[in-house]
Amino acid sequence: MRVRFAPSPTGSLHVGGARAALFNWLLARQSGGEFLLRIEDTDRSRSRPEHVDAILDGLSWLGIDWDGVPRFQADGAERHRADALALLDRGAAYRDFTPRSDFSRARDAAVEAGSGAVTRLARELATEVGEVEARARAARGEPFAVRFRVPDGETAWDDLVHDELRFANAEIDDFVILRSDGTPTYNLAVASDDADMGITHVLRGDDHISNTPKQILIYEALGRERPAFGHLPMILGPDGRRLSKRHGARSVRDYRSDGILPEAMVNFLALLGWSPGDDDELLSREELIRQFSLGRVLRKGSVFDPAKLEWMNGRYIAAMRPHELDSALREALRRDGVAGDGIRLSDEAFVRLADALAPRSRTLAQMARLARPYVGSIDAYDSTVARKLWLRDQDGAVDLLDAVAEQLTAADWSAEALEASLRSLAVAMNVGAGKVFQPLRLALTGRSASPGIFDVLLVLGRGRSLARIGRAIEWIAAERVDSVP
Ligand code: GLU
Repeated sequence: MRVRFAPSPTGSLHVGGARAALFNWLLARQSGGEFLLRIEDTDRSRSRPEHVDAILDGLSWLGIDWDGVPRFQADGAERHRADALALLDRGAAYRDFTPRSDFSRARDAAVEAGSGAVTRLARELATEVGEVEARARAARGEPFAVRFRVPDGETAWDDLVHDELRFANAEIDDFVILRSDGTPTYNLAVASDDADMGITHVLRGDDHISNTPKQILIYEALGRERPAFGHLPMILGPDGRRLSKRHGARSVRDYRSDGILPEAMVNFLALLGWSPGDDDELLSREELIRQFSLGRVLRKGSVFDPAKLEWMNGRYIAAMRPHELDSALREALRRDGVAGDGIRLSDEAFVRLADALAPRSRTLAQMARLARPYVGSIDAYDSTVARKLWLRDQDGAVDLLDAVAEQLTAADWSAEALEASLRSLAVAMNVGAGKVFQPLRLALTGRSASPGIFDVLLVLGRGRSLARIGRAIEWIAAERVDSVP
């Protein structure tokens, strides 16, 4: 099995492209075949080297490795031209000297006259010129396009996803294969390249379905064996329309900087249009390679659900090993500009923090945000929570935090000892444990939600915890002074 991914470098790697690449890659790795890359850069005005880099980067990040070196379509221009001329020689194509404007006018007139069939109009106009004259004009250097002479009949194939698809050839225009400037058109270049690369299976988005009969006709006219074709269903936005920027669809690179893990992205992409046939949604790369099958590719579009991607990512984060979490969190903080002295935690406390945040984080970016009050300082107290927990009874809040500070000064610095100490304080004050933990949490983190309070204490250490409690007490007192008119 030789498959390929053939992106046009006119933008970075988006979700649809990544999914097409992944499905091809899974087939190749499953069958021990080859996964090749072809950069379709024949549209010189829209192709950019930085997009090539972004696409290769995106694939590498996803762990989708390719065999050999990527080939660039523009490098095949000579072969494309030779194939077009071979088709001309065989009579499977013809020279078209009609200027585009004349052709448009003739077509409009035909449509006006109620002639339904305009697909052979170019051929009729070319026939008026005649073969002998056409050769003479070409020999004189007059520019001409080469059009494919679509035969009668129909073109059908057994699609790998949709089963049999057929097109009446009468519906297919005599399409241009070589422009008058000598450049190949898309369908010629693709068929010529796939044949040259020995591609056995072409698996691509179903936006290419209407190109496939044209490419099959080219294979047949060139006398080359055609590959099998499969067309992947559309990826839809929540409104059921094709996923696009309008839906906030983003490039693979954007998901990466959001802190989506490549393993989660791969798992998620695999389920966009394919299902393993049971409810198991979390599948490792190895499981995907083992289980993937074209027979289970869905025929109808599947909806891209960002919430599901984040959920899945959260599951992958929770399953990471401590050293992986440690470096992932450091990397995510670095992206936010927090590194070096910005991280005021010992290595041990940092590992504990990453471990405590993992089950609460759906992305690494979120994890970095949650980590901010621990690695650095608190920039503000959540005002709603402060009003509720501290300012309703300011004396009570100050007394409570004083008592907590006293306990923490004396307690052994272990989870068990801290828990025993704070719980006995709650009993002594005749309040529920939450009445102690919540005001303390706000003092330590500035927020109402955090990992377990004992984890928070262990991460911050005794010195920073006591300093934060002291600062909270001052803040509460200052609020009181300020609020007296
Ligand atoms: N270059 C085409 C695209 O980006 C893909 C062509 C193909 O897979 O045949 O949509």
